[in-house]
Amino acid sequence: MDVARLRKNFAQVAEHGDEVPLFFYSDLFLKHPEVRDMFPISMEAQRGHLVDALVKIVANVDSAADLTVFLQGLGRDHRKFGAVAEHYEAVGASLLATLEYFSGPDWTADLRSDWAAAYDVIGAVMRAAAQEDEALRPAWWRGTVVSHERRSFDVSVLHVQPEPQLDYLAGQSVAIESPSRPRLWRYYSMANAPRPDSPLEFHIRLIDGGAVSMALTSSTAAGTELRLGPPVGVLTLGQPVPERDILLVAGSTGLAPLKAITDQLTALPQPPKVHLFFGARKADGLYDLDSLEKLAAEHSWLTVVPTVSSDPRFSGETGSLPDVVARHGDWSGHEAYLAGPTQMVQDTADRLVAAGVATDQIHIEDFGWSEP
Ligand SMILES: Cc1cc2nc3c(=O)[nH]c(=O)nc-3n(C[C@H](O)[C@H](O)[C@H](O)COP(=O)(O)OP(=O)(O)OC[C@H]3O[C@@H](n4cnc5c(N)ncnc54)[C@H](O)[C@@H]3O)c2cc1C
Repeated sequence: MDVARLRKNFAQVAEHGDEVPLFFYSDLFLKHPEVRDMFPISMEAQRGHLVDALVKIVANVDSAADLTVFLQGLGRDHRKFGAVAEHYEAVGASLLATLEYFSGPDWTADLRSDWAAAYDVIGAVMRAAAQEDEALRPAWWRGTVVSHERRSFDVSVLHVQPEPQLDYLAGQSVAIESPSRPRLWRYYSMANAPRPDSPLEFHIRLIDGGAVSMALTSSTAAGTELRLGPPVGVLTLGQPVPERDILLVAGSTGLAPLKAITDQLTALPQPPKVHLFFGARKADGLYDLDSLEKLAAEHSWLTVVPTVSSDPRFSGETGSLPDVVARHGDWSGHEAYLAGPTQMVQDTADRLVAAGVATDQIHIEDFGWSEP
């Protein structure tokens, strides 16, 4: 398989933007109308998911271990949609048809066989992980909302009791489906470390016009039954927990996975030193500061630095989160975990690399959007 050729071809196809997923899903539903019901009525957000997954796969095709972990997670995660072996074949055929269509005269027999081989590997890893998972866990969990607390005009904190127990690692996320938005699943990170019989904490930021965040922050009272997918994500401390000191950088509700990691560390006999930067545009966006400051008062290893980017009345650190982090010290000896809006995590990662932090010491959970 010629990886460089695949990448070049993918870049060429991706230039066609939204037309690519539009063509893919039209082809899939035309040839297999029976799969249409697995998808939401409005396909707008779904289309982006396909491209995001492909971008991630193509970008990681050289690092087999990372790609395998990602694909296994994707395979397990697709169980909640009712995906079975035939669907993988149907998707593979439509994917090839899409790549062929947008490659135009550049499409060759070699490209077809390279893409087919790549998709065979992708499908096999996903199917194997899904099959293995069937014996271990349900395809989805029932999640009963125990409490809903509005912390600011656009952020709610939900506590949700899963049934049966949901095992996960601090820093991971699950997809959530609200009963008022059937078949629309969005990822949200647990904000607490796992404890038997404890509800999961979620921090949900309302997105203007956002289908699921709107449902979760506005019409989800205690007693509402959600569906939760299996835990995904690799923004975790790993085992053993790193000995290096830790830098956590959270933009808005990017705090959730990093608070879970902090919560995990509170259980260690001798946690490393932790600096947690929590950034928002305005002071009222620091929706969980009270609880973070309480944690910092209880644990001398934890320093919390609240930061706002555009609120001159704020008396603490001001400026963009990457700037504030960069001017706060030498992080080259730290293990760094970043979560939140795409631009913020990318800019922070770039600044850290420029300041001498090795790329394998930087761990990212990109929420897949940027501030307007
Ligand atoms: C691994 C992972 C973990 C995540 N964890 C969390 C979490 O803990 N808390 C949390 O609040 N979110 C989290 N997100 C983001 C979340 O999954 C949704 O993307 C977000 O809630 C918007 O979904 P929606 O259905 O409301 O909006 P959609 O209907 O999907 O989007 C509506 C419109 O808003 C745009 N848009 C989507 N999100 C944003 C945004 N944040 N800012 C500006 N425009 C946006 C879209 O491009 C689209 O045009 C996470 C995402 C990922 C990938």
